[in-house]
Amino acid sequence: MLDFNHRPKIGDQVTALIDAGLEAERAATPPRSYLGGSRLGHPCERALQFEFAGAAKNEGTDFDGRTLRIFAIGHALEDLAIRWLRGAGFDLYTRKGNQPDGEQFGFSVARGRVRGHVDGIIAGGPPDLELAVPALWECKTMNAKNWRETAAKGVVVTKPIYAAQIALYQAYMDGAVPGISRNPALFTAINKDTAELHHELVPFDGDLAQRMSDRAVRILQATDAGELLPRIARERDFHECRMCPWTNRCWSLPA
Ligand code: SF4
Repeated sequence: MLDFNHRPKIGDQVTALIDAGLEAERAATPPRSYLGGSRLGHPCERALQFEFAGAAKNEGTDFDGRTLRIFAIGHALEDLAIRWLRGAGFDLYTRKGNQPDGEQFGFSVARGRVRGHVDGIIAGGPPDLELAVPALWECKTMNAKNWRETAAKGVVVTKPIYAAQIALYQAYMDGAVPGISRNPALFTAINKDTAELHHELVPFDGDLAQRMSDRAVRILQATDAGELLPRIARERDFHECRMCPWTNRCWSLPA
């Protein structure tokens, strides 16, 4: 009789090797030296400050291989969405010169300490849509639960961090792409479980962009001055803190 308990678990071994490769690749990637525009809508300014300063995280909270695979799948799906939109008649630019090796479109302000990279810029759409261009294109992939909620209520209500990113990018890209803040952005959400698509137009929210820009300034100034921004919560078991990789550091420091 075969003893399955002693068969080498080739599947686990292969996955472990893949994950080790991904983790090594990440470890060799220099950390960000800037505040990412896609992160500025995070609810806690202190967490953003830790992130910007490269503060040590709680042990065991670095991205593991599986999480890195999730990110990579998201990027691959975004590439598919680009192909689908172009196939549907959108004149979509994702890189300078629209070359695969071209630089991503983006912005850099505050002497390069705040930066963002946009998923795409729509220069023209299918005539029937009467899409106002140029328009920012932002794409996210989601699990079924998040996707259903976003599709039902819209990105502004369900994903404020994405809405903040869109507003900020529209504002900061307007210098390079005049008019992009005048026109609504096209937001695409891909359901990773079912391949369903959600698209919506997101009008520019100038107040939100200004709040995010002010926030970036606050974080940079506080960090330069060696000051700690306030916590988002009074209790460590606040839901945002429970998911935060800097809890140990944060709660050992003054409020
Ligand atoms: S533990 Fe909570 S208060 Fe501290 S940085 Fe994280 S989210 Fe902010």
